[in-house]
Amino acid sequence: MFHSSYIEISKSALQNNINFLKQQVGPNVTFSSVIKGNAYGHGIEVFGPLAQACGIDHFSVFSADEAQRLQDALPRPATIMIMGYIDNPELEWAIEHDIEFFVFEPDRLIEAAKAAAKIGKPARVHIELETGMNRTGFSPSELDHLKTILLKYSQHLVLQGLCTHFAGAESFQNHERVMAQQQSFEAQRKALEESGLVPKQTHTACSAAMMGYQDTHMDMVRVGIMQYGFWPSPEVYSQYVSRQKNRTDPLQRLINWKSRIMSLKQVPQGEFVGYGSSFQAPRDMVMAVVPVGYAWGYSRSLSNQGQVLIQGHQAGVVGIVNMNVMMVDVTDIPNVQKDDEVVLLGKQGSQSISVASFSELSSQLNYELLTRLPLNIPRVVVA
Ligand SMILES: *Cc1c(COP(=O)(O)O)cnc(C)c1O
Repeated sequence: MFHSSYIEISKSALQNNINFLKQQVGPNVTFSSVIKGNAYGHGIEVFGPLAQACGIDHFSVFSADEAQRLQDALPRPATIMIMGYIDNPELEWAIEHDIEFFVFEPDRLIEAAKAAAKIGKPARVHIELETGMNRTGFSPSELDHLKTILLKYSQHLVLQGLCTHFAGAESFQNHERVMAQQQSFEAQRKALEESGLVPKQTHTACSAAMMGYQDTHMDMVRVGIMQYGFWPSPEVYSQYVSRQKNRTDPLQRLINWKSRIMSLKQVPQGEFVGYGSSFQAPRDMVMAVVPVGYAWGYSRSLSNQGQVLIQGHQAGVVGIVNMNVMMVDVTDIPNVQKDDEVVLLGKQGSQSISVASFSELSSQLNYELLTRLPLNIPRVVVA
């Protein structure tokens, strides 16, 4: 093992999560696995084939480069849909490779039709509608223009999907806004259908919308965070468990991020540990040096805050997290040894370290911390 840490990805946890999530929508709704942000840090090349082995045949990515990485990694064909970034030079490549993509501007739609005409194969487009997030999407005022283009180029464009994205379905605070978005979507859908423009699929739901708003399921759900065993917010979790008899979390985390103790150090009472003076030993102590630092995504903000697991015990980060190493307090762990396994994230024995417990500041932290796990940490599939 050349690397100072590695990330285990659990197949049985993923299968458990996918089974649970598919149950939420039933057999008639397509389940699209969202793998943007390097599969939320899990690694596209590892997660894609694993998800396929667990029964997934539809994937959503953010950009053309992610679509390419995924397609190269998958052993069997699957539908791949780009939800965000694709530029004109990539259009022909996408159409050639059966990649579907969101379109949210008239110019791109025309370019897609032209690229399709050029290579003699229709483009499968998902028209994204603006319904109130104000990020991407055709606005209602552009609807007539959109209709004109779709009808004019109908030979080269397959209206594969009609879609939108909710601005914060994970919080009750946004309830009115989500409802307004749904209404706007329905109104625009109707207007298009009255002109004979009927999409093959309509889809709007992310994880939070899928759990909280049944009406948003339509033909397909686009599920990211929950596949990986994390809830979009504590609100969505408590709303779900409060309706269950056993009140246990049905999801399992896939990730275990592990390293080993590189060295042990006796530190006498009164000495400072590491750079500067942020930690002074209040007693004679034993420190373990762990070869992971902020260069591998272990945030510097966890200095004197983070917890790791060694021999099934919690051990606190001491002093400043360095670029490549950090120190943890193992004074109270009997028989601690050099080379002992260190769990930075995930389970060891009966204990676990969750991303959110790194800091309870914000539920969005799960998304951010996961996706910051660098590409160069090896990912290993475990049962
Ligand atoms: C990220 C994303 C999703 C999935 O969101 P989760 O909260 O991770 O389920 C769905 N749709 C779009 C457009 C997205 O960008």
